[in-house]
Amino acid sequence: MTTKHVPKDWMFEFHGHRCPFMPIGYRMGMLAMERLGVGHESDHGFFVFPEIGEGHPQACMMDGMQIATGATYGKLLMAKTFYGKLAATFYHPTKGAVRYALKPEFVDAMGKLEFFAYRKKGVEPSQIPAKVTDEVINWVYDQADDFMFKVEPKPDFKFTPVKGSFNKTKCTACGEYAFDRYVRMKEGQPFCIPCSGYEK
Ligand SMILES: [Zn+2]
Ligand SMILES: [Zn+2]
Repeated sequence: MTTKHVPKDWMFEFHGHRCPFMPIGYRMGMLAMERLGVGHESDHGFFVFPEIGEGHPQACMMDGMQIATGATYGKLLMAKTFYGKLAATFYHPTKGAVRYALKPEFVDAMGKLEFFAYRKKGVEPSQIPAKVTDEVINWVYDQADDFMFKVEPKPDFKFTPVKGSFNKTKCTACGEYAFDRYVRMKEGQPFCIPCSGYEK
């Protein structure tokens, strides 16, 4: 095994199945944190911007990135750019930013493993024989970081999170609370977005 960044069993349980991509995202996150000199994020100070889109494979990487960094979707620390690329930028307001991308040579070499023959036939990862899944996961663990990742410092990267507010208002129609940046006015009365009839 070449890498020390190997997910624990509970991480695979959280993710739901064994696949090579959650571990790749985990490793990407751990390496980015080491490089920037930051630890697992407790609160709201570290951000991940995956370039992954939708409707393509390998999106599982994002679960690994969240597990590694603590920069989770629920804490509003992860936002996708929808470029449809296998890359992510990791950003800390005082430590800087770094972008990690999977190298095409690595993606092509991995694509030759039997796991992908099953995936292309539409077989879900949990239904693929364990021997086949373990083969690809262990193969990834054996690859060198240099072969897998293109790494670029992003000194000019800037991101300003939305300013938080606890202010909320009851909707005139449904009576439910909406936070104020989402409240819409109609004939002088406050409404939530679904009741307002307005677009977002
Ligand atoms: Zn997966
Ligand atoms: Zn409403």
